[in-house]
Amino acid sequence: MTPAPATRVSRIVPRFLYGADSFGQLGELLRGLRRNGRRAVFCVDSYFRGKPLVRRLPRERGDLLLWIDASSEPSTERIDSLAAAARRLPFKTGAVVGVGGGSALDSAKAVSNLLTNAGRAADYQGWDLLKRPGVFKVGVPTLSGTGAETSRTCVMINPATGVKLGMNSEHTVFDALVLDPSLSATAPRRQYFFTGMDTYVHCIESLAGRYRHAVADALSRQALALCREVFLGVDMMSAENRERLMVASYLGGSAIANSYVGVVHPFSAGLSVVLGIHHGEANCIAMTAMAGFYPRETAEFLRMARRQGVRLRKGLCRGLSDADHRRLYESTVVHEKPLRNALGDGFRRILTPARVRRVFLAM
Ligand code: ZN
Repeated sequence: MTPAPATRVSRIVPRFLYGADSFGQLGELLRGLRRNGRRAVFCVDSYFRGKPLVRRLPRERGDLLLWIDASSEPSTERIDSLAAAARRLPFKTGAVVGVGGGSALDSAKAVSNLLTNAGRAADYQGWDLLKRPGVFKVGVPTLSGTGAETSRTCVMINPATGVKLGMNSEHTVFDALVLDPSLSATAPRRQYFFTGMDTYVHCIESLAGRYRHAVADALSRQALALCREVFLGVDMMSAENRERLMVASYLGGSAIANSYVGVVHPFSAGLSVVLGIHHGEANCIAMTAMAGFYPRETAEFLRMARRQGVRLRKGLCRGLSDADHRRLYESTVVHEKPLRNALGDGFRRILTPARVRRVFLAM
C-alpha cells in the first residue's frame, strides 16, 4: 500500500440535514448566519429559472441571487464576475448557498472563497493556496454524482491557459449540506445518468490506483455498491434509487477528498477542453474506450447504460485535425497526479501520442 503523497488535513463537511423535505429547513439553518444584518448569496442553477424551487428559496430583502449557467463548466472569468457582484453588496455576506448540480455548487464554493481572499479565481487554481476560510458555505445538491457537495475542490476552466483546475483546499469544503433526495425528482434522465456516473467513475479509478487511503477505500466500496443497485436496477430514478444515489455521491465525494482519480478523468478533461463536452457526459464517453485500462468496469458501465436506455454519442473525435489531436493529447497528459496514480511514474511511456489518439478515436 503506497500512501497518498502530500499528507494533508482530511476535512469532511461538519454538518448536514438529510431527508425528503430537509430543503424546507434551509431558512432555519441560515437564520443564525444572518445576524448583524448579514445577507445571503444564492448561486442557483439557471435550470431552475421560473421553476417552483426558486419560490421555495428562503430569500430575504437584500439577499443576492446569482444564476449559474451550467451549460458549460465554470470558468475563472465567470467566477470573477460572480464574485465581483457579491463583493459589491452593500451588506456583509453571512452565507453563500449553492443550489444545483456540480457547476452551481462549485461556483458557490469559489465565490465564498473570493469574498475573503483578495484577487482573482485563477490566483487560487492549485493546491492549498487559499489563505483564509471563505464565507460560510451551504451546498444543496439537486443532482447527485459529482461529489462537489463533499469534495475539497471547485473545478474551473481557465480559458487563457486552458488549465482545468480547482481551488484545492480544506477551505473549499462546504460548512453545511442540505441533502434532500426529492430535489432530483425532476432532473432530465440523461443528465441524471451522466452526473450519477461521475461517482461510479471516481470510485473505480480511486480503487484501482497506486496511492491508497484506507478511509477513502471504504467509502468508495460502499458508494460503488450503491451505484450498482441504482444503475443495474429497473429504474435509476425511483424514489429509493434517487436516495441511494444521493448517499453514494456524498460518500464518493468524501472518498476523492482523500484519493486520486485515474485514467478516465484525464481523457474526459481532454474532451471537455477541446470539444466543450460537459464533465459527466465526457466521463461516460471516455468510459466507452477504457477497456485497455479498466476492462471489468468498462463492461459493467456499458451494461448500466444499456439497462437504463442511455445512448452515448459516438465518433466525436473522428475527423478532427492533427492540431486538435495534439491539444487532446496535451490536455490529457497534463493531469500528472491522476495518471501517476493509475499508471505509475512512467505514464508518458504508456500514454504515447499515438496511443492517446487511438483511445480518442475509439470513443
Ligand atoms: Zn468527476
